[in-house]
Amino acid sequence: MKKQITMEKIANLAKRRGFLFGGSDIYGGLQGTYDYGHYGALLKQRVKDAWLRSNVQEMDNVVALDASILMHPKVWEASGHTANFSDALVDDKISKKRYRADHLIEEQLGMKVEGLSNEDLTKIFQENEIKTPEGQKADWTEVRSFNLMFKTHAGPVDTSGPDAGPDADAAAIYLRPETAQGIFVDYKEVQATTRKKLPFGIAQIGKAFRNEITPGKFIFRMREFEQMEIEFFCKPAESKKWHEWWQKERMRWYTDVLGIDKKKLKLRPHTKDELSHYSAGTSDIDYEFPFGFSELEGIANRTDYDLAQHQKVSGKDLTYFDQSDGPKGKSYLPHVIEPSCGVDRIVFALLCDAYVEEPDEKGDVRTVLKLKPSIAPISAAVLPLMNKPELAKLSEKVRDDLAKDLMIDYDVTGSIGKRYRRQDEIGTPFCCTVDFDSLEDKAVTVRERDSQKQERVKIADLADYLSERLT
Ligand code: ATP
Repeated sequence: MKKQITMEKIANLAKRRGFLFGGSDIYGGLQGTYDYGHYGALLKQRVKDAWLRSNVQEMDNVVALDASILMHPKVWEASGHTANFSDALVDDKISKKRYRADHLIEEQLGMKVEGLSNEDLTKIFQENEIKTPEGQKADWTEVRSFNLMFKTHAGPVDTSGPDAGPDADAAAIYLRPETAQGIFVDYKEVQATTRKKLPFGIAQIGKAFRNEITPGKFIFRMREFEQMEIEFFCKPAESKKWHEWWQKERMRWYTDVLGIDKKKLKLRPHTKDELSHYSAGTSDIDYEFPFGFSELEGIANRTDYDLAQHQKVSGKDLTYFDQSDGPKGKSYLPHVIEPSCGVDRIVFALLCDAYVEEPDEKGDVRTVLKLKPSIAPISAAVLPLMNKPELAKLSEKVRDDLAKDLMIDYDVTGSIGKRYRRQDEIGTPFCCTVDFDSLEDKAVTVRERDSQKQERVKIADLADYLSERLT
């Protein structure tokens, strides 16, 4: 039985079991930030490992990169972020609250407004009675743009304080709002040192920062988050083919590797109005969150826009010499396909997708995270039946042996039933109970999370038994 999943249920479970906490909680919190506790950090790591495995380890033509968060300000000038990376902002003069103008219009009038100017948006506000998200009457200001990049300064020059000198702005730099630009800037060096030929990709995982106007919906929209991005460089004539290939491959990854329900995923091509000016085609992979279908990943055909921009602004030759093109070869800018996703949104989708409430034999509700065993943060729990020294010695040995290869939880507190419930909520696929018989028969009882079936397994065979089932 799968009950209605609400944001509240997911957020409660995440907090109760220590997956996620609000950032800086003891100081009242810092909006748009979350901290991952033990199980959350491990789950997030599983997602990143699965992505690297599928996209770098198992793909011969995709290599890894870990570029700096801080980059030369010219990078953002070239990429267009300094001028254009902004959202439409509107203030309510009554409540003094700020909102994303496009979101209010989309939610209340059901119209897509991508590509409209601030003047057009202001007109829509004037001609329609748009309320606050809480349903209150509002007195709106004009719509204006708000740049989402976090500005800071490099070196001992404060660009904002009273001591800021005349050229203090020269020290202004930004926290990257996406990881992608690090890949474009380094692409030539990566290509030369890895000796890759087209088509090839560069994959990167890392933090990105956006000063979102309205962070929220749990970890869906944060001000500090993590991205996993691939820039896949190919011959211009082949970009359409590769764009299609990546859309299929990325959908396959969510269902086959992460085990997300196919019915909850949707590949949504952008309409002409939605497309960025540089994009020859973009599709989003949307997941059905409790608040509706929303973006997990964007897969864009960025043409040669970024490389051309960086070539122009840096003055460096970023062309690729293609020896296979004609007898003498030819230099040109490759075209780029970009599959770009957010780690936090994937963690959120996994929590929603795996969350199940089912009645137990006593008529109570059993909450289980039915995560794919290979993705579960903890692979197996070792549980001594009772908190007794004779059991502790053997249990600790079982734990230490398994922990060489697997992430293990060792839990002695509370009744065995309570401990099973705790592991169910964490999503642990196997619980290994060490009892008094274990001292004689050198075996443990293994309980499987979903079926709750129990099986006696020799301790000597336990590691193999678990590994075979952790797929
Ligand atoms: P949205 O329209 O939801 O703001 P976007 O289209 O601006 O997202 P991209 O610039 O395409 O997002 O970023 C790629 C991915 O990074 C997104 O698909 C999403 O998973 C993730 N992401 C973007 N912004 C945030 C954020 N504020 N918090 C968490 N994840 C984010």
